[in-house]
Formats: sequence, structure tokens, C-alpha cells
Amino acid sequence: MSKATILEWFEENKNTYTKMAQDIWDHPQTAYEEEYASGLQQKALEAEGFTIKQPIGGIETAFVAEYGQGKPIIGILGEFDALPGLSQTATPTKEEVNAGGPGHGCGHNLLGTAGVEAVVSLKNKMEKDGLAGTIRYYGCPAEEVLNGKTHMAKAGVFYDLDTALTWHPMTSNAPINRSMQSMVSIKFHFKGKPAHAAASPEAGRSALDSVEMMNIGVNYLREHVPDGTRMHYTITDGGLAPNIVPESATVWYFLRAGSKEEVEGILHRVKNIAKGAALMNETEVDSEILAFCYDTLPNDALNELMYHNMLESVPLEYTDEEQVFVESLAKSLPSAGKSFEELIPTSVSFHPYQPGVSIPGSTDVGDVSWITPTGMVTTTCAPVGTALHSWQATASFGTEIGYKGMHLAASTMALTAYDLLNNTDQILDKAKEEFDKLRDGKEYQAGI
Ligand SMILES: [Zn+2]
Repeated sequence: MSKATILEWFEENKNTYTKMAQDIWDHPQTAYEEEYASGLQQKALEAEGFTIKQPIGGIETAFVAEYGQGKPIIGILGEFDALPGLSQTATPTKEEVNAGGPGHGCGHNLLGTAGVEAVVSLKNKMEKDGLAGTIRYYGCPAEEVLNGKTHMAKAGVFYDLDTALTWHPMTSNAPINRSMQSMVSIKFHFKGKPAHAAASPEAGRSALDSVEMMNIGVNYLREHVPDGTRMHYTITDGGLAPNIVPESATVWYFLRAGSKEEVEGILHRVKNIAKGAALMNETEVDSEILAFCYDTLPNDALNELMYHNMLESVPLEYTDEEQVFVESLAKSLPSAGKSFEELIPTSVSFHPYQPGVSIPGSTDVGDVSWITPTGMVTTTCAPVGTALHSWQATASFGTEIGYKGMHLAASTMALTAYDLLNNTDQILDKAKEEFDKLRDGKEYQAGI
């Protein structure tokens, strides 16, 4: 009975949050520059009676919005950064809004807004029922560079949480039952000696040569790393012109594996390769870690509860116009030719956590999941076959396809947080027990 009033609230208020998500989609800003989305959400939450703490850890766009008092403390994690170069109109054919501009190709316009929607609906419910406890929305910047939440963790804002909930826009409705990989983002800066490349090459020490020799070393390392390891790089500085022996060169690596310890082991070897490369042609090397996030720790107790609450939420339904959009967008996808029902799954599924099977990809949610039990789901916000970080993703996340998935995620999180506030079936203890077991005595230590 009592959860029905939360769902009624969604029916009455969801358009406000469709508008917020649309507004953020219309104003995409990349990591640490999300003033528009952060400001918009802070204002909306303040107007609803939430206390805002900002900045967090010196980051202007990071904030925490809080309502209520006492235990338990339930956090909902939001994100709002866009990606560079993914500008796209909300149409089924490739067309930029601004040439080369940013766009919401990972759907963080939906991700954060669903969190705001969830906590406002909860606040109304808490007020009505006189329910004790604290709810928080975390406005987390810079997920795309994988360190926004690490900085917030260092500022200490997650430690008193009893649980955290979050989600990600995707192409199906389900809790995430596999761990995402731990990852380090690191730049190696080589310094050599410039010289005329034709007149006095013997006087030069090429920093670019060192970068190339380092990459060869890392490519040989690939055979000797744990299964599932990912090592990728780009050369962000390779010198100025072919006729000048490059004095400086930089290579930027992402190293990913199933756990932070594994990544540390690989990083140790990659650093030695860099040193070896520098020694080979008498250059110098420095490294700079930009991000180092944990793998995510799934929590079956929370995920299962989220699954049941997703089933209790209003199921997804679409108009003919939305169907036309999806079918025509799918023409550019590997899923072309599938039926609308196959392209936009409305069913909800649950599979328990599969230890040892990682999703190749990383998120700074991993850090939070090592500090407090964290539940995470996905909902259908784009047609099957859509890759995140693509123009098709930006297009979908700016339409009703994205917004409907967002409302489903928001009501799932709100209903789940309500159960957590009531500690229905001792769910908080179950989630904590599982968290302690998986963490196995290891304490969180920020990677940067
Ligand atoms: Zn994302």
C-alpha cells in the first residue's frame, strides 16, 4: 500500500525531470566543467528543502544534497558529465549540433537526473509518513575521466553511508551482476635532446624513440598478464617536426584488470618497461597518474531488492512515433533488422553476481562500492546494439526512449531506498554482510 504513493508521485511529477534531463542534454559539458548541470540540480534540490554541501574536495561542480536526519543514511550517486566530440541531434541519422562539440553519449544527463528524481520523491514520502533516516544525492563530476568519485572519496563524503544505489543507461533492464574492471590512467613523459635530424642526428636523443620502444615492450608484456587485462595507449605528444629530433614525447596508457592489486602488478611492470626504454637511448622518463579507480563490487542483496522494485515500477511502454525512431536508428547499428520488441527490451531480469567475470570497462563507482555496499542496475535507454560513447547513444539519450528508461531507474532507486530506510527484512545487515565478505578485510585506499 505505502509504496503506491511513491509511484503516484512519479506519475504526477516525472515531466519535471524529463525537462531537467533534456535541459542537461541540451547543455553538454565535459569533466569538471559541468557548471550547468550541477547548478541546475543544486537549485532544484535546494528548492525541495535539501541542504547542499558544495564544493567537495575543492571541486566546484561536486556536491552533496541531504534531507532528513539520523540513521540509516542512504546515498544515491549521480553523474552529469558529457563526452568530447559526441555532439549529435536527437535524430536517427548522424548529424552534429555543434561540429566537434561535446555530447551526452554515455547518458549522464539521465544518470544524474534519475538520482535527483528519486531523492525528491523519497523526501515527499518521508515527509508524509514521518519516516526517520537520511537520504543523500551525490552530484559526482567527471566520471568519464574516472576520478570524480575518487576525489570525493578522499574528501570523506561516502564513509558514513549505510548503502549507495546507482544505475547506468543501457539497452536492458537488470541489476549489474558482474564486476567492472579496476583501471589506472597514466601518462609517461619522456625527455631527450633536440638536434637537427639531418645535420647532427648523432647529437640527438629522441624522446619519441623511447615512447616507441616502450610500446614495443608493453606489447610483449601482453602475453604475461592475467586473463582479461586490457592495455591501451595513445601518443599525445610525438615531437614537433620530422627534421627536429623530438626533445619531448608523451604516451598515455589505460591499464585495466579484474582487481586493483592486479592493476598494481601490471603497472609495476609497465613502469619498468618505461625505465628500460629511457635507458636504451639515454632519455629521461617521468610518470603521472591521472586516475586509479577500483573494480566494482556487486552486492546481490541490494541488486535483488532493486530487481523486485523494478518489477513493481510502471513497465515501459512506447508510442508509434518512438517505435519509428528506434527502427530507423537501428539501421545504423549491428542490430539492424531486429523487431522493435527485440531492440527495446521491456522485460526485467536478475542473475546473481558472477565472481571472476569482469565487464571490460571501468567506472569510478568502483571506489564507492569498496567503501559502502552499492547496488547498481541498468535500464533500457537505447536500442540493443547501441554502443555507449557513440552518436547513436547521444541521439537516444535525448529522446523519450532515454527518458522512459530514466524514470524506470529513478522509481527503482526510490522504492529500494524506501525499503532500505525501513530496513525491510534486515536488508541493511544482509547487504553489509555480503560487502564485508567480498571485501575480505581490505580497506579502501584512494588510488590518487
Ligand atoms: Zn557512463
